[in-house]
Amino acid sequence: MADGNCEDALEELYSFLDGELDELRRAHIKRHLDDCTPCLEVYDFHAELRVMISDKCRDQVPRELRDRIARILGEQAM
Ligand SMILES: [Zn+2]
Repeated sequence: MADGNCEDALEELYSFLDGELDELRRAHIKRHLDDCTPCLEVYDFHAELRVMISDKCRDQVPRELRDRIARILGEQAM
């Protein structure tokens, strides 16, 4: 398990995706994502969601993404 930075990492998720973090914070979070699969999946999920929204294909959700959403929601329910 990574060293308890999940809260920090998730708190900065949107800033990270928006490119609003400085080099140091980005490096810090990237290191955390290397160690922490659950956080990495959340980041992946939001990154894909953004691409999808910006691609404006809102009524066509890829099956792979739906599976991923289901998996993440399942993990959070535990
Ligand atoms: Zn984490």
